[in-house]
Amino acid sequence: MDKKRVSIIDYQRPYASVAEAVRRCGAESMLSCASSVFIKPNVVFWTRHTPFPKYGVITTSRVVEDMVVLLKDMGVKRIYIGEGGVTRRPGDTRTFAHAFEALGYLRLAKRYGVKVIQVLEEPFARCRLGKGISLNFNRQALESDLVISLPALKTHSQTVVSLGIKNLKGLIDMTSRKTCHNPDPEKDLHVHVAQLAKPFNQVFTLIDGIYSLERGPGFDGKMHRRNLLIGSTDPLAADKAGAVALGIEPSAVPYIVHAAEDQGRPLGLGDIDISGRPLDGRDWVHGHEFDFAEDGEKALPLPMAAKGMKGLFYRKYDDTMCTYCSAINGVVLSAVFKAWDGRGFDQVEVLTGKKMVPARGMNTTILLGKCMSRVHKDNPDIRRMIRVKGCPPDLKDIAAAFERAGVPVDTKMFEAVDMLPGTFLKRVKDRPGFDESFYEVRV
Ligand code: SF4
Repeated sequence: MDKKRVSIIDYQRPYASVAEAVRRCGAESMLSCASSVFIKPNVVFWTRHTPFPKYGVITTSRVVEDMVVLLKDMGVKRIYIGEGGVTRRPGDTRTFAHAFEALGYLRLAKRYGVKVIQVLEEPFARCRLGKGISLNFNRQALESDLVISLPALKTHSQTVVSLGIKNLKGLIDMTSRKTCHNPDPEKDLHVHVAQLAKPFNQVFTLIDGIYSLERGPGFDGKMHRRNLLIGSTDPLAADKAGAVALGIEPSAVPYIVHAAEDQGRPLGLGDIDISGRPLDGRDWVHGHEFDFAEDGEKALPLPMAAKGMKGLFYRKYDDTMCTYCSAINGVVLSAVFKAWDGRGFDQVEVLTGKKMVPARGMNTTILLGKCMSRVHKDNPDIRRMIRVKGCPPDLKDIAAAFERAGVPVDTKMFEAVDMLPGTFLKRVKDRPGFDESFYEVRV
């Protein structure tokens, strides 16, 4: 069997560690022969309103800069850095302009002539990926000789892990992203994600595991310092090794299962040749939880069920919920929990995503978002229907809908939603190894 090389190394020094990860997996010629390279870091979230913890959530600027300098040293002429960041307000370009400045990408542009791109503002081209799936990809990435996927090492509540292949979802347009969260089980999110590396000329993956994230993909997950870099010219091999590094079997990651099936590859690491340095006696595998706990019987997040909340049924989102709705769902749950005075509710259910169906015995059904509003608008099984249209649904409309259903929400949380990420900073404050300068490019 033709084994794929994967480098797994201990991150120790700027530049040298990235160069070693590239060398050990045999990627040097792939990089040096490319005349145009598109670097795709993972900037899954940003806010201009408050500092927030980025560890394991966002690719470190350290690794992005080291990769740019390495490419320059190898003689690569054209380098792009691009990300298609999503915010709660469609059309908002200021937030990611701020991100690119704060993360030092504009400094890299000035210093090394890199072109920095907000992917959602650029042209797209339709690509047929097989299995009846077509998605719109960023043209610049498609036309580049090489795409370098630089994900953070993290888990994901919908896709179990979010690594090199999943990171490429940031290169498709919003329509395609919504398509990915498909209710058709034959073409669900995992089937779509498994196709994402297909349309590019070549893909090199370097997983930035300086930090890792449990219960990702956002700033509310549990952050770890790991000091790991995982590189491969084979996207599937990199993600299998990345999953194992998170303590998750590749067979437990549906998109990896689909990608392996498509390529006729094994699910374990049997087709991988690992080249690594001893990790100072440390094991490179650490168990990470990927999901938030739910009380399935009560259809509530565990903390709400454990406190005895009754009469509200707010089922866990499924993989059809896409980014806009995901960005507000946690805030809505927190606002309900905060406002709760211990009383029971009158059999109220909340349906989200694209495929939930109403349960029996409910008095009121809140349909959250355009998709649920459309799917169930004529559903005779719903006794009293409250629709919150919009994609994404507006927080004010959500507050009004919950009030109508007799479920108070703490509207102050909605008003302060932009500041919420900053409240998570205390979780990492003064923890050794958590160093914000990894997210800066030095002057
Ligand atoms: S309403 Fe929500 S689930 Fe439906 S397309 Fe919009 S973001 Fe996705």
